[in-house]
Amino acid sequence: MKTVAIIPAGGSGNRMGKDIPKQYLLMGDMPVLIHTLKVFQESKHVDDIFLILSAEYVKNAEQMIVQKYNLSKVIRILPGGKHRQDSVRSGVDALGAAYDIVVIHDGVRPFASPELINMAIGEAVLAGAVSVGVPVKDTIKSLDAHGFVDKTLNRDKLWLTQTPQAFSALLIQEAYRRAYEDNYYSTDDAALVERMGKKVKMLTGFYENIKITTESDLRWGELFLKMRSATSMKRHER
Ligand code: C5P
Repeated sequence: MKTVAIIPAGGSGNRMGKDIPKQYLLMGDMPVLIHTLKVFQESKHVDDIFLILSAEYVKNAEQMIVQKYNLSKVIRILPGGKHRQDSVRSGVDALGAAYDIVVIHDGVRPFASPELINMAIGEAVLAGAVSVGVPVKDTIKSLDAHGFVDKTLNRDKLWLTQTPQAFSALLIQEAYRRAYEDNYYSTDDAALVERMGKKVKMLTGFYENIKITTESDLRWGELFLKMRSATSMKRHER
């Protein structure tokens, strides 16, 4: 069983209002993206990593990312595209027939754990398609074009979708082929499989697995890192 992780990190990160894309901003002692890659490097069931970057970052990435941080599993660095889906496609197109399972994970989601990734891979072997997510805690409403509430959605059935998402390689290759054939775009990869009529299993993750999108996410991330390292120091002292 051979597994590859595709990590899209080719976004421009303009919601942060900074010149540097958010995946390269420092969180604690390392850029956000490096935290993410290290989790995959540590995951026992991930054999290889395909890293997707925007074209201007590809040239220096081998030296600045792979060698500098000892990320030996990163065997391909590929240029992304306009939308997240175009970036993931660049990885999917490079798969060939070498892999059984493909895990896709946002480069700006640094708090997934090796255990969560391994669980998603295990479920993908059984179910073919898996997304990690958490039940929503707030009540979600949809609005009309004038900013008034149109509908209140039934919270019991709503989940926030995160990554990792994991798929059988053949299935995600077929889903990508069909999406581009129909010019269909989504913000997550599982949706491309759902539209084929294939069931996607939801796996309960954890709320801390956030996507670093805004300045306050970054500050929260730094606090969380500190809290986590204090907890693990206490554990070592015992
Ligand atoms: O767009 P969003 O904030 O959901 O980005 C999720 C992930 O997809 C990020 O890691 C981002 O760098 C990546 N992305 C990409 N190519 C794009 C847009 C986003 O690889 N064109």
